[in-house]
Amino acid sequence: MVTPVMSTYAREDIAFVSGEGVYLVDREGRRYLDFGSGISVTALGHCHPHLVKALQDQAGQLWHVSNLYHIPGQEKLAQRLVDATFADSVFFCNSGAEAVEAGLKIVRKYHDATGNPDRYRVISFTGGFHGRTFASLAAAKKEAHMAGFHPMPEGFDQVAFGNLNELRNAITEETAAIIVEPIQGESGIHPADAEFLRALRQTADEFGLLLFFDEVQTGVGRTGRLFAHEWAGVEPDLMSSAKGLGGGFPVGALLAKAHVAEAVTPGSHGSTFGGNPLAMACGNAVLDVMLADGFFEGARKQAQVLWDGLTKLVDAHPGIFSGLRGQGFLLGLQCEIPNRDVLRQLRKNGMLAVVAGDNVLRLAPPLIITERHIEEALGILEKSCAELEKDGEKE
Ligand code: PLP
Repeated sequence: MVTPVMSTYAREDIAFVSGEGVYLVDREGRRYLDFGSGISVTALGHCHPHLVKALQDQAGQLWHVSNLYHIPGQEKLAQRLVDATFADSVFFCNSGAEAVEAGLKIVRKYHDATGNPDRYRVISFTGGFHGRTFASLAAAKKEAHMAGFHPMPEGFDQVAFGNLNELRNAITEETAAIIVEPIQGESGIHPADAEFLRALRQTADEFGLLLFFDEVQTGVGRTGRLFAHEWAGVEPDLMSSAKGLGGGFPVGALLAKAHVAEAVTPGSHGSTFGGNPLAMACGNAVLDVMLADGFFEGARKQAQVLWDGLTKLVDAHPGIFSGLRGQGFLLGLQCEIPNRDVLRQLRKNGMLAVVAGDNVLRLAPPLIITERHIEEALGILEKSCAELEKDGEKE
């Protein structure tokens, strides 16, 4: 049946009407502990007072002006991202897919501008996810996502995630860039080894390729540092960001080093809404909180407490879980029963999480969780496992 809202998602029968910190409230008044954060979006929880104030203040002042004019909030956020990262320049948009799309276009523009217009192909990795635009779908090459949408844009090759030999063999004179998620999120929380990321940097340098990190899911504090690649000590040439960047307000960004950004000139690319004053007020407010002294240290401490608790949970329930992986607040519990059964049980017990590929239950709580929230989450997980085990015995 066709519904007024187009059926792009299989929606759970639940509607939330308010949120505060780590909790969401549905329209029946039931409270849930939110360890999904809208799929890794609300990095500072729901309705963080600093973000609410920033958005309200901006809403009373100015909502939108075109990128035909200077936007002070945009210049401020760009400068802060430049100061805090590898990047020298930032393009703002409204979503992760748009950030990836901008990056894929700019990869070609860079090689064209530097006298290599034949270099246009991008190598990606199996299990990657980069969004739902044509180019981001073509880059990820996931058959289920491409089904019915062929033909895909040309110029994308794929090799096994983590396999350097395959990568080197796939490089030709037409190769322009390598795109990779430091931790593959959608396919089941698969981290790339730091060693592998370093080898990608060396390979890119050796063959004159651009290294493109897709940090839409892993960025903005999710792994306990501003961006996940910082753990490996490797810098990309360009990087997509979104999700947590606006704390729940749609903000995307493509960050680039100077040599890449130099290829971009007025008219090369654009966005009507990208970087508008409301979005930038939210982005700046997120950074006010995250870049404050001690924020990441505190978050990493809590992430360790969560990791330790989950490790014990996995050990105690081998029939439900067989492993834990990820980093910081982007964690995957490998399930031994269907991940959706675990998700449903958690929801019954008042906790939200998100499934991921490979039968994984993804936990992506806001970075502001305290030990009290962790205890509550572990309690609900424990109770849910016990109930699922009991149901399993009955069958
Ligand atoms: N890239 C990665 C790594 C993602 O995880 C996602 C979304 O989950 C995207 C890109 C697409 O982002 P959006 O849904 O905001 O377009």
